[in-house]
Amino acid sequence: MTTKRGFTTTILHSDRLGKPEHGALHKPIHTAVTYGYDDVQDLVDIFQNKKKGYAYSRQGNPTVTALETKVTNMENGMATIAFSTGMAAISATILALIKHGDHVLASSFLFGNTRSVFQSFMDMGLDITFTDATSVDNIKAELKDNTRLVFVETIANPATQVADLKQIGDLCEQKGIIYVVDNTMTSPYIFKPVDVKASLVINSLTKYIGGHGNALGGSVTDTGLFDWSNFPNIFPTFKTQVKPEVLGMTQIRKKGLRDAGGTLAPEAAHSISVGSETLALRLERACSNAMALATFFEGHPLIKKVYYPGLESHPQHKLADELFYKFGGLMSIELDNSIDCFAFLNKLKLVIKSSNLGDTRTLAIPVAHTIFNELGAAKRAEMGISDSMIRLSVGIEDLDDLLEDFKKALA
Ligand SMILES: *Cc1c(COP(=O)(O)O)cnc(C)c1O
Repeated sequence: MTTKRGFTTTILHSDRLGKPEHGALHKPIHTAVTYGYDDVQDLVDIFQNKKKGYAYSRQGNPTVTALETKVTNMENGMATIAFSTGMAAISATILALIKHGDHVLASSFLFGNTRSVFQSFMDMGLDITFTDATSVDNIKAELKDNTRLVFVETIANPATQVADLKQIGDLCEQKGIIYVVDNTMTSPYIFKPVDVKASLVINSLTKYIGGHGNALGGSVTDTGLFDWSNFPNIFPTFKTQVKPEVLGMTQIRKKGLRDAGGTLAPEAAHSISVGSETLALRLERACSNAMALATFFEGHPLIKKVYYPGLESHPQHKLADELFYKFGGLMSIELDNSIDCFAFLNKLKLVIKSSNLGDTRTLAIPVAHTIFNELGAAKRAEMGISDSMIRLSVGIEDLDDLLEDFKKALA
């Protein structure tokens, strides 16, 4: 038996070991929309899930498959489906697995657009409850007999609440509930949700995995831990076609990706694949920059509050320390009342006023006025978002340059 290779080695050699055309070290970008076969039986078998292969690129493409394999390996998972964006992955997962009459339990600390699409699902009649997921007790209290799926993020954005990931995993396992963990903020380099018994892992590939702010993408990984054989919402035909282990992925690929159509473009898959090669290196640097900046902000008289799980003052610091290899590259700060938030941001010369996160460059955004503006003041307060909160996605610049930029803006 060969021992499993390291995280970065595995990513770097993944395409090559799949023996791509002409010995290429990268899986080439396949742009064909459709695939032709000499024997019609081959085409029929692909349609009937009896054989692996490609028919129409909306539901599968060789370049995208190569990226899916990488994400599966990064997450120690069983299989992955890639999507055009993280939001497409999240929407397709709910759309494919949940039916009217089911109950979904979600963390109240969610990415703004996730919260927004969940609201749309509620407007369509789906029963979704939001609760503080930093303690399993709150999850327990909201469980119903028809709860089919629990959805949490690892480190929430922007106030960096850490979900009680392990305890929630144990509870979902015991109750036979699908446990979905959005791992975007941590990425599989820092945390593998399979270790806390997640059933499905979501990643916005746009963020740390792609890492360079040059391609959108998302993914859902099946960890192989959930028993799909008795899950009632699987489309009956699939049960006659595939093994029980792959029923979940079949349902998400067909009902989620194929029907909703949030397909990842092969060019984007290639960019994300190349970006992912340096995930570990970038995150080591971003996390150490973030820790140093958080420490600097915490000691600064003009900073009222720092939200970063690496700080001992963080309410879930101990939990984060137990769960994660590092504390991530995202933090939020609140300024002293004497400083105008916009004036401070405009004084920053290196740090960019921008809404992405997980980029190589350091980005800053006033949260209440932008990404969480639509929600309104009441829901923002519920999610712990104050009007003076600034979210920072710390990049991989040289630390001294970042410190100087912030020192000057605070002077
Ligand atoms: C950005 C983000 C998403 C959505 O990803 P997109 O690729 O931008 O659609 C989902 N969840 C979290 C936690 C995110 O940060």
